Amino acid sequence: MSARVLVVDDVERNVRLLEAKLSAEYFEVITAYNGQEALRNIRLAQPDIVLLDVMMPEMDGIEVCRRIRASPETMHLPVIMVTALSEVEDKVRGLEAGADDFLTKPVDDRALFARVRSLVRLKMTNDELRLRLQTGRRLGVLEPGQLISDQDSGNADILVVEHSKSAGERTAAVLAGDGNRLTVVRSAEACLAKVGGDPFDLILVSMDLVDDDPLRLVSQLRSNAGTRSLPILAIVDMDDSERFEKALELGVTDFLSRPVEKSELLARARTQVRRKRFQDRLRQDYEQSIAMALKDPLTNCYNRRYLDTHLSGQVANAHESGKPLSLLMLDIDLFKRINDTFGHAVGDDVLREVALRIAGTLRDIDMVARFGGEEFVVAMPDAGPRIAGAVAERLRKAIADTPIVAGDEAIETTISIGIAHTSQAATPADLLLLADEALYRAKANGRNCSIDAGDHAIAAAKDAVG
Ligand code: GH3
Ligand code: MG
Ligand code: MG
Repeated sequence: MSARVLVVDDVERNVRLLEAKLSAEYFEVITAYNGQEALRNIRLAQPDIVLLDVMMPEMDGIEVCRRIRASPETMHLPVIMVTALSEVEDKVRGLEAGADDFLTKPVDDRALFARVRSLVRLKMTNDELRLRLQTGRRLGVLEPGQLISDQDSGNADILVVEHSKSAGERTAAVLAGDGNRLTVVRSAEACLAKVGGDPFDLILVSMDLVDDDPLRLVSQLRSNAGTRSLPILAIVDMDDSERFEKALELGVTDFLSRPVEKSELLARARTQVRRKRFQDRLRQDYEQSIAMALKDPLTNCYNRRYLDTHLSGQVANAHESGKPLSLLMLDIDLFKRINDTFGHAVGDDVLREVALRIAGTLRDIDMVARFGGEEFVVAMPDAGPRIAGAVAERLRKAIADTPIVAGDEAIETTISIGIAHTSQAATPADLLLLADEALYRAKANGRNCSIDAGDHAIAAAKDAVG
């Protein structure tokens, strides 16, 4: 993974040192020697991450960070503060100004690369999700300017995996501060059992679990679909280099070294929770934008666009496999009269209820789409004429037998149905056309009935029209 890193420090020697380390690992490095230059280079060179010295004359790192966060173009840019070892207070100030992480001088190589890699990975995932959201906006399925900013880091569910009872309790006590709910377990087995049932925002794993292999646990958490994207904060012994490297490789999100400093533990836990929630939001918005692009907002049925695409695949499958596919075209009878009598809003309620009853009468694999104003299409894979005819009658009855309650009215509603099959049609267009012709005949036949495109005589049941 390569990335462009901006190194900012007023001391030339510090810049050169970080530049050399990062270049040796194939990062592309750009530099700046003061705050103004840093902000300019961010605009011009668009780095993927910024390593920012705190102590600089004129504009210090805290102020630079604040300005990065204040601008919509740069608010998502990862920032790592670089502080002198003694300046614990700077760490806290940096995080408050919106820094994503901090490193202490002299900078430990492993910590440097671990933090940079993890933040660059995070940025790339988020950039991709944001790009998809933008596409959604451009397609007009998401509101413009709906900007996702920082998420809250409190009230989180945190699982602590620590063999030592007292150490586990100490960790839990530190983290309980933000209104978090803590669960402490003492083995890998107990951890896996817990994550199977309860949703967590963060898992803290001590790398010195006595009876278990903590690395195996991390790997299991990463391969399990339910916990794959859950942040894992590892408590490591920096002297155990091999285990540390392996933990990062397996996908630990962040780490703390022993002895664990309370303020750092809390800060790192908060950051992980906030990032998880941010990513959850991006994902959720993306999924919602997809749903909006494919579904009709009034009835929650699939829309015409989805039907067109999906039906060609279904028809092709049917012809290839030799299995039947049936298509129903449904139209509400004399719907204009319902609108005219009760008003458009009641008409909308009727449409929603008809859609609900249709969906409730079908199998999961049957697809319902809103084809036009008060017309619906149902595609039924693996269903021939006999089944399709029976389903059509069931649908017809599901509407006709029970008046639809909307507002203060109980409205007698009926539908007419045209049925066609892939055995009669080569293409989706032909299939729709045949079903539409059958529907037309059902209307001509007096409505509230279903007719198969293959029927020459009217065989379907026909009740009197209301
Ligand atoms: P038929 O039995 O022959 O189908 O008669 P109809 O009155 O149902 O047919 P027509 O096509 O003349 O009228 C359909 C009406 O559906 C006209 C239109 O205003 C109404 N409509 C279309 N979309 C919506 C909608 O989203 N909400 C409401 N309330 N009405 C709609
Ligand atoms: Mg109609
Ligand atoms: Mg119509």
